[in-house]
Order: sequence, then C-alpha cells, then structure tokens
Amino acid sequence: MDDSRWERFARGEGCPLDAPRPGSNDYWDFVVSLSVSSLCLSKNQTYRGHCQLIFDPRHVARVDQLSAVEWNALSADLFKAQAAIMRAVGADHLNVESLGNLVPHVHWHIVPRYRSDPRWGSPIWLTSLDDMSDTRACLQGNSERSWSSWRRRVPACNAGFPPSPRLRWTAEALAEAG
Ligand SMILES: [Zn+2]
Repeated sequence: MDDSRWERFARGEGCPLDAPRPGSNDYWDFVVSLSVSSLCLSKNQTYRGHCQLIFDPRHVARVDQLSAVEWNALSADLFKAQAAIMRAVGADHLNVESLGNLVPHVHWHIVPRYRSDPRWGSPIWLTSLDDMSDTRACLQGNSERSWSSWRRRVPACNAGFPPSPRLRWTAEALAEAG
C-alpha cells in the first residue's frame, strides 16, 4: 500500500467510502441504510454472509474520532446488523473487525465464521484476496457451472448456501430484525 495514498484517504481526499457511493461495484452490493451507516454485502463470499457496515454522515478515519452521539448510533447499527446477519446465515461464530489498513474510513467487517471455513480458529485475513476472488463468479453469474466451481474450491461454501440468493436473504433478515 502506497503510504501517500493512504495519507490522502485518511484526510478524506478521494476516500472511496465517502458518500455518495455506488450501490454496487467490484467490492460490494448495497443492502440497506441504517441510522448512520450503510450495510453492504461483500462481493467476495468466501465467508458466507460477509458484510461491511460503512459510516455514512462524514469522513472519519477512526472510531476514536467519532462523537459520542455518532458512536452510540453506529453501535446500535452494528448490533442490529450482526443480529440480522446471524439470523440470515446461521453461522457458528461472528467476527467484527474495524481495520482501515487499506481504506481509513470507519467501517466494520462483519464476518460470519463456520467450523468448516478455511480459517476456522484463525483470523480470516490470512487468506489473500487472490485466494478468495473465485467466489465472486458465483454471486454475479448465479449459474450452476460457476456455483459448482465455487463449491469445489471453497470448502466453507459446501453447506447450505443455495446458488442464487445474492442480496435477498440478507435484506429479508434485516427487515425481520426491525
Ligand atoms: Zn471517507
């Protein structure tokens, strides 16, 4: 990562997570707006149900730079999103991580974990993006061929995930979570 690029992002110059953002791009599909954040389903579903919760009102690089009011609201959103995602995917565990090492804008990775997943017992970040990128084909194409390829290559996905739900299951679960 180019430090000067990171510094520019940290100052909010060209920050790719500042609103308005595209609803859909190579990295996510928008799911729903919460009180001060947007929940997006990651394109890469190596960890089934992996979402990002992005702080919306302004550019903030770190959680400690939020006001108390903003933090309370974001915490409530994070709580609601976690409950909805767990209800949607029935994971064995849930990782919640705020990193900002690539894009320093406050956002949370909400990562369902499964006993069968590739890194159970370890952080997911040991898996390189190159190793994870194959999962995108399934989500975008929804074809049986890409689904079969995905299942073969990603053991975590072999249990219980139908080939073409894309956003539907998460959005419905969020609606149920109120
Ligand atoms: Zn930003």
